[in-house]
Amino acid sequence: MKSILLASTAILLTQNIAKAYSLHGAKQEGKYLKIELVNMNEKYRLAAITAGISYCLNTHITVHADIHPGGSRFTASHGNFGKTGWEARATWRTGFRSNIIKSGSIHMNEAYCNSMNGLNLRVVTMHEIGHLLGLGHSKLQNAIMYTSASHAFLRHNTFTPTNDDKAGLRKLYI
Ligand SMILES: [Zn+2]
Repeated sequence: MKSILLASTAILLTQNIAKAYSLHGAKQEGKYLKIELVNMNEKYRLAAITAGISYCLNTHITVHADIHPGGSRFTASHGNFGKTGWEARATWRTGFRSNIIKSGSIHMNEAYCNSMNGLNLRVVTMHEIGHLLGLGHSKLQNAIMYTSASHAFLRHNTFTPTNDDKAGLRKLYI
C-alpha cells in the first residue's frame, strides 16, 4: 500500500510541475530566434551568447545571439535604468491580428545587472529570451521563468532551462 501511495504522489507532483509555466499568448514563427547584441560590453555579450547556447543544448529551440548587425528584428542591449525594480525586461510586437512575434528587444538594467556574476547574468538573459519565445512567468521558484530569475539562480542554483521551462516551449513549438 505504501508504495502505491508514493507512486500516486509522484504523479500528482508531475502534474503540478507541468502546469506551472504560463504562456503570454504570442510566439515566434518557428523554432529559431536570432538576437542582435547592440553595444554590449564583453560581460553582457558573453552572458547573452551562452544563454543562447544553453537553449540550443537543453531545448529543441535554437537561439542565436550575434554581435554582427543585420538580419534580425530582435535586439538586446544594456543601460542604466535606475532602481526600477526590474533587472531586465523584454518587449515585443506581434503582426497585425496575429500572435506571431515580429520584433522585440531585451533591455538589461545595469543598476542591478552590473553587480551580478556572469552565470547569474546569463540566467537573467535567458529569462528575457524566454519571454521573446512566448513564455510567461512560472509558479515554480526554481524555473528560469520564475518572476525573479535571480531568485531561481541564487536560491535554487538554476542555470539551464528546467523541465517546466521546457514543457512550456514544447507546448509552443511542437
Ligand atoms: Zn519576466
